[in-house]
Amino acid sequence: MSRSPQVPARVPNVLEAIFLDASGRKETEAAGVLWRGHRIPAPGFSAETLERLIERGFDEGVYLASTGCPGTFHVTRPGSSSMHTASRSACSCPAGRLGKPCKHRALVCLALTVIDLRLRKP
Ligand SMILES: [Zn+2]
Repeated sequence: MSRSPQVPARVPNVLEAIFLDASGRKETEAAGVLWRGHRIPAPGFSAETLERLIERGFDEGVYLASTGCPGTFHVTRPGSSSMHTASRSACSCPAGRLGKPCKHRALVCLALTVIDLRLRKP
């Protein structure tokens, strides 16, 4: 009789694991966090945290680049060798991996809100 080790049928890669964890999180902020008069859907952020992290991202020149996957961006800043992958609900940075709000995700939430507003424009 052969032994059957306790190995999962499929081991997700690192990014999949991050996004799978995040997607399981309940988005209680469906109405969004108020930021300068705009509702920004930003799971896990308070208004103060969103403001602070967006400002930090702006100050550092953080920018987003397409991953080719809707709603997900590569996030980096000039002169940095690190690049993180972020969506509205997850980020690959150290804070994001712990499920904490980060500047990468704050800027993605802002960008997705702006994109959504532009798409709705008549
Ligand atoms: Zn991050």
